[in-house]
Amino acid sequence: MPKHANVERWEKYSDDGELDGEQCPRCSSLLAQHDGRKSCGKCGYSKIQK
Ligand SMILES: [Zn+2]
Repeated sequence: MPKHANVERWEKYSDDGELDGEQCPRCSSLLAQHDGRKSCGKCGYSKIQK
């Protein structure tokens, strides 16, 4: 059931919001946590945190 697999994927996304990993909005891989910022090793996306 391919549809079910899709649903599982989205559930995982929302549940992961509180965990250590944050997903890249561009390529959906996990952002690496650095001091004061997060960055994606795949596409180069980076996000500065307060
Ligand atoms: Zn990325």
